[in-house]
Amino acid sequence: MSKPTIKSIEIKAANIPLNNPVIARIGTFSNWAFMTIEIKCSDNTTGKGYIGPYLIQYAPAIAMTMRELFKQFEGREIAPYQFFNEGMKSLSLLGRSGIALYALAGLDIAFWDAEAKVAGVPLCVHLGGSISPVKSYNSNGLWLKEPESLYDETLSLLNNGGFEIVKVRLGRPSLSEDLKAVENVRKALGAERLLLSDFNQGLSLPDAIMRLKGLDNEGLYWFEEPVVYHDFDAYKELRRRMNTPIMMGENFHGPDDAMRAMKDQICDFIMPDLMRIGGVSGWVKTASIAESFGIQVSTHLFPEVSSHLMRVTPTAHLLEWTDWAELILVEPYKIEKGHIVIPEVPGTGIEFKKEVLEKYKVEC
Ligand SMILES: [Mg+2]
Repeated sequence: MSKPTIKSIEIKAANIPLNNPVIARIGTFSNWAFMTIEIKCSDNTTGKGYIGPYLIQYAPAIAMTMRELFKQFEGREIAPYQFFNEGMKSLSLLGRSGIALYALAGLDIAFWDAEAKVAGVPLCVHLGGSISPVKSYNSNGLWLKEPESLYDETLSLLNNGGFEIVKVRLGRPSLSEDLKAVENVRKALGAERLLLSDFNQGLSLPDAIMRLKGLDNEGLYWFEEPVVYHDFDAYKELRRRMNTPIMMGENFHGPDDAMRAMKDQICDFIMPDLMRIGGVSGWVKTASIAESFGIQVSTHLFPEVSSHLMRVTPTAHLLEWTDWAELILVEPYKIEKGHIVIPEVPGTGIEFKKEVLEKYKVEC
């Protein structure tokens, strides 16, 4: 049985203004960098995907890397997992992380979408799973703003989609300001619901020890990325000292990093990022590793593809819901009762708003 072959690729980049700017210790973002990837097959199937590489000025470098990698697959019968493994092998000279991995991930996401479309089923079904709503938290806010403003914002995040879980960003200049922020969110949330927290790598290890100790009895469900992502020893130290579970993973570059973190037992939960983990293929590998370590897996951004992947992740935990891609998607995924709803269409079903991509276009 022959499968369609890979014909051509179209890559676009756009810097889209966000409705609600991101204000975190890692930086303030009023725009979000998107790169869309469309791969045409010989039977006219088009596989679609997008990545968000943060720094729009690197879009041309990523696009160039993507086009170079694409040459390996052009003209061949579609085989996403095999392509990923071959791609990773070929990246050993360039490095299995950073923009080289982002480029491969972008291709991988589009290849999988195409293959699921050829099979005529949703991506999660193509991967051997089934469609069902995925438990999510509303991550569209609670940035490092005035603590007093967070009560109202929490109520609106809960009401907008029937959510029960939210995430507050922490790492303000003083502990008392962080405590005030937690208090205001908790007041709106109620005592029983889960409250997550994220420091966006903002603290040094000594400061993190002080700050996290001061917050350790606040009933937070996790402390996310208190210190720089690459200091695994610091994470281990924090995990040893704190009662609150430690969360990390959005900065794992590929399954290699995820494997090391879990093997070294430096965190309690992980939350890989679809792009940085290496797309669908990188995610599937990581989900298997997490299962063997008995570690629960949440998602980071990219709710559309990530929701499909959660349906085949044995230790699936919570999906991070952000609406940022709504700006570029014709039919954004819907939220019902705090769960993301996977549409019953082939692939992921995403279609891009051409006029928006054109309006905020960046040459790549
Ligand atoms: Mg985070």
